[in-house]
Amino acid sequence: MSRFSASSAALLEREQRRFIAEHPETLRRDKALRQHWLNGVPMHWMTDWQLPAPLILREATGSTLTDVDGRTYSDFCLGDTGAMFGHSPPAVANALKHQATHGLTCMLPTDHTARAGELLAERFDLPYWQITQTATDANRAVLRWARALTGRKQILVFDGCYHGSLEDTLVRLDRGKAVTRPGQIGQVADFASHARVVEFNDLAALEVALADGQVACLLAEPVMTNAGMVLPHEDFWAEARKLCTRYRTLLAIDETHTLSSGPRGHAHRLGLDPDFLIAGKAIAGGMPTAVYGFTAELARQMEHLLETKPSGHSGMGTTLAANALATAALVACLQDVMTDDAYAHMLALSTTLADGLRKRIDEGALPWHVTSVGARSELVFTPTPARTARESLAAASPTLERLLHLYLLNRGVLVTPFHNMMLVSPATAADQVQALLDRFDEFLHELS
Ligand code: PMP
Repeated sequence: MSRFSASSAALLEREQRRFIAEHPETLRRDKALRQHWLNGVPMHWMTDWQLPAPLILREATGSTLTDVDGRTYSDFCLGDTGAMFGHSPPAVANALKHQATHGLTCMLPTDHTARAGELLAERFDLPYWQITQTATDANRAVLRWARALTGRKQILVFDGCYHGSLEDTLVRLDRGKAVTRPGQIGQVADFASHARVVEFNDLAALEVALADGQVACLLAEPVMTNAGMVLPHEDFWAEARKLCTRYRTLLAIDETHTLSSGPRGHAHRLGLDPDFLIAGKAIAGGMPTAVYGFTAELARQMEHLLETKPSGHSGMGTTLAANALATAALVACLQDVMTDDAYAHMLALSTTLADGLRKRIDEGALPWHVTSVGARSELVFTPTPARTARESLAAASPTLERLLHLYLLNRGVLVTPFHNMMLVSPATAADQVQALLDRFDEFLHELS
């Protein structure tokens, strides 16, 4: 954003100096961490905030983080959705405490498994379910099942999608063609040979991609949330669903992020009936667990396939998936955390946040906007919403984003390191939202 580039570069330097001055213990520990961890972190994404040293946490409870320097933060990142229902929701923590002394993993169903199935079926209107450890793995399984059941090799995704580090979907649209997504480390496979990519909201391109009857599955988020947020045009999903049915392509809806839209996810709000539904990250309150659901007809075909397939490993699943500990957390989260009341709080407070940001943008006549979907809002440094992921990615303003993240963090507010995403949890308090808005006021004042 050229209008702010000079002031943002100078402010960024100042804020970095402030972070260093206020985090002596963090910096000391960062040195020690660098002895044994790559870049000082146990997972390389943990440096995505691009801070002088990554925050090192002492504690995360509710909507608040405390770092090793004793500084506290109102957390609007919430583990990029993994902690969407707050850190250590009490019902989940209690279920974990109990299960901790009754078996952690046995590779067998437990007392909780039947209840978990009932709760999932009731909530998402799909009768049959499976559990994996991550949303990546749930999506991987869905694509494998879809290919096996349809006998088709191709899958279809939207440009700019992210469904986890699942190889088949790491493709982009380049001059009308699928290409393997750049930036992957040590990747030698060509995923574009079995994947097709079209722009979100482009029904004509979607029909062209499906029309030869070779696509097993369309895997999509109901709203794109991983390239900024791109909303579906009215009727897009109704028409897309019809196209999938017409060309016998299975529709898999990934609600991992859009579980923030309402108690039953975003597809339900749209009246969309998927063949598969995937939810991960927060579905067990932050325990590593994901689920995928499917129709009775698909379940029948899957059972038949398991009975009749040649002997040998299915090539799907992991040993610890659906373990006793995670299943206990899943039940507690579905039953006692993801309640209508919890969602009412999240959605109302998120509206306050988004409206507050919009008001300030309007008052400052700034060429920015806010996109919000349920409890998830994003501040975007362009005047109008993007219609495609390509437009959305082109709108990124890395220096300004980095400055905003650091400016807020230095003042006790943490937002997601990707595209200014702010998520409101059931534990988030109104004064935390007000504090974010106040800090945003100060930020705007300094920037101008
Ligand atoms: N689906 C969506 C929509 C996601 O955004 C992500 C991760 N951001 C995943 C799946 C994968 O989740 P995980 O990394 O926990 O496997």
